[in-house]
Amino acid sequence: MRAIRSPKCFLTVFICAIMALGFISEALAADVKKEILRVGVPTDRCPVFYRDPETDEITGIGADLIYAAAENAGYEAEFVQIKEETLKEALDDEEYDIVMPFGSAISSGTGAASIVSENLIQTPFTLVTEGKHRLPPLNGLKVGMLKSLGGAAETVHQLFPGMEITLYADMAQCVHALHEGEVDALLHNSYVWSYVLQKPSYSYLTVQPSAMFSMDFRAGTLDDPKGREIIDRINRGIAGLADTQVQAIVLDHTSRRLYKYDFNDYLYEYGLVLGLTVLLIISLLIILVMKQRAIHLEQEEKMRYLMDHDALTGIWSLNGFRKRVKEILHSNPDTQYFLSYNNIKNFKFINDSFGMAAGDELLRFWADSSVRMLGENEAIGRIDCDHFVVLREIRGEEKLVEDKDKVLDPVRNYFVDRGKDQKVQICSGVYVLTPDDYEKTDVDRMLDFARVAEKRVRESGRNGFEFYNPKQWERGKRIADILTHFPVAIKSGEFKVWYQPQVDYGTGKIIGAEALGRWNHPKLGWISPTEFVPVLEESGYIFELDRFVWEEVCRNLKRWNEEGVKRSVSVNLSRRDILGDVDIIEHFHELIRKYELSPEQLRIEITESAYVEDSELLIQTTKKLESLGFMVEMDDFGSGYSSLHMLKEVPVDRIKLDFQFLHGKGNAEKSRIILRYVIRMIRSLGMKLIAEGVEDAEQADFLDSLGCKEMQGFCFYKPMPVEEFEKLKFKS
Ligand code: C2E
Ligand code: MG
Ligand code: MG
Repeated sequence: MRAIRSPKCFLTVFICAIMALGFISEALAADVKKEILRVGVPTDRCPVFYRDPETDEITGIGADLIYAAAENAGYEAEFVQIKEETLKEALDDEEYDIVMPFGSAISSGTGAASIVSENLIQTPFTLVTEGKHRLPPLNGLKVGMLKSLGGAAETVHQLFPGMEITLYADMAQCVHALHEGEVDALLHNSYVWSYVLQKPSYSYLTVQPSAMFSMDFRAGTLDDPKGREIIDRINRGIAGLADTQVQAIVLDHTSRRLYKYDFNDYLYEYGLVLGLTVLLIISLLIILVMKQRAIHLEQEEKMRYLMDHDALTGIWSLNGFRKRVKEILHSNPDTQYFLSYNNIKNFKFINDSFGMAAGDELLRFWADSSVRMLGENEAIGRIDCDHFVVLREIRGEEKLVEDKDKVLDPVRNYFVDRGKDQKVQICSGVYVLTPDDYEKTDVDRMLDFARVAEKRVRESGRNGFEFYNPKQWERGKRIADILTHFPVAIKSGEFKVWYQPQVDYGTGKIIGAEALGRWNHPKLGWISPTEFVPVLEESGYIFELDRFVWEEVCRNLKRWNEEGVKRSVSVNLSRRDILGDVDIIEHFHELIRKYELSPEQLRIEITESAYVEDSELLIQTTKKLESLGFMVEMDDFGSGYSSLHMLKEVPVDRIKLDFQFLHGKGNAEKSRIILRYVIRMIRSLGMKLIAEGVEDAEQADFLDSLGCKEMQGFCFYKPMPVEEFEKLKFKS
């Protein structure tokens, strides 16, 4: 053998040796590769058996213990989750070499005998209840356990044969059964309890330490030669486990925070806080939205204010004035108004001489003095520069004088009062509103009219004011006088009831009378009902007047009855009385009861036009009045658009033919022909007939020749005060 002499040869030999050593050690390692031991375990028993949340591998106290024991026995344990419902059934599955955990040997699902290892660790079992009450003795206890703990349940049953054990699919069902009282307590491995009871919704469950007991923790398999060999080897491995090692494994798994909150746990734990927070957020959002809305509304309001108001004086702008006038007229349809357009003729001169600021002061002064005079339902606006417009109620001449004294004169003398020799010249145009203006209010049109009148004043070189429609002003003033004074008049005795007798032309005797209202106005003198009745009807006051007249008539009828003279009087009933709130039927009924009259003494006149306008309501009212014994008459027949058809429908007792109307106009011969046929028709229909407005004997004779005997008119008597009427002889 040649000696190795060169260093190069030495290096080669050294590398070869190293390589040879590597091969040898690899071969040795292959020799000691451990045998795989497939261990079937449940995984729903944290911390005994569970899946590591990070690696998803099966781990736990039980897994680590058997792994260590198997390792001591030369196995490498490989864990498989058992797919069977119970360990008992898993024993028959060849997929697992051993199955865990068992407290003792039990027979398999198919009834085969099993064999179990030595005890790996003494596992404490604990009872859990709702609340801390004393439990009955273990032997008579009803206990709930997990179905997958079937093996343990059998062992428990062996230990406590009197214990009634019910198995449930999962912990939620166990807890539900406990809550429903199906079982007295739940039984489980203490390690598992320490995990399960971390669930917030189980926090009310109480551990019963007094009822604790221990059970063995073993691996098992079928009792066959292979099984016995595995168990033998495992037992040797178990014997090699040090106590400290076992305790370390237990500590390792029980000290980990293994329980992970799910959504329901968070909901349970923080539900109240969460709810309150959500409520708080919603409330904040609502407040925010409302605040936003309020700010928005406020801004809108500000915008509207700016648009509707004059920045200099604070009174309405043209825009605002238009709106306000419409509002006022809409809500006060019965108030008489005028609208004035006022202009300072020498405003340019004032500005030039005293400065703009003085001009502005003057405008503010005018606005302020006017505002002080205005009522709630009146308005003033500055529609541009020195042009003021005013909507004012018509309240008679005195008010105009007051306006002049308190507003216009102080404005006129504004500079004079401040020691300057300059009068303010005001030109005003006044437009008095007509009924049309209330129906379709066109403020610009009214302003145009007032402006036209103002222009007339200005161009004539005068100061002062002019009416656009002076007649309307007179009428407006009269209406205002009527309406403002009416409430006083009805109380103060200004109203009187006059009587116009009705006669039988054949005998010449008085057969009745019509009561007519008379008003002696302190300022306007005697006013005709043809003027005040429509005004009162329009303004809704007519019932006040009629009630007064009816009451007066009934009082007199009663007095005459007592004096032994039985009279009948016709009273007028306005269509507005029937349309109002008062039950007219009941009102008349009450009147005759109160004054002890028989109903035929009170005859009720309703105009023909009322029957045309509200026929159905009027027909019903007529029928009801007649059913109470009143006589109902159709007044002013022939004066309106009467239809012959209506005569058939309306159940009145007597027709009052308006002779003046039928006779007074057009071709006299044609009128006579019409009258003749109308009278014949009324009589043929079996209705009574009276002609009113008969002015002379010729007319009376003509009517008589046509068969109309009852008459009322100046030909016989004019309306007269009650004292005069009483003196007349009545038909007995
Ligand atoms: P009317 O009910 O048709 O009353 C008859 C009207 O004719 C009365 O007018 C009467 O004075 C007038 N008259 C009587 N004879 C003649 C005549 O020969 N020739 C002429 N041209 N006229 C005659 P008056 O009193 O002015 O009443 C007018 C209307 O006012 C009444 O017409 C009636 O509809 C209404 N009226 C009067 N008083 C009242 C009342 O107290 N209540 C209501 N609701 N209406 C009333
Ligand atoms: Mg009448
Ligand atoms: Mg009449």
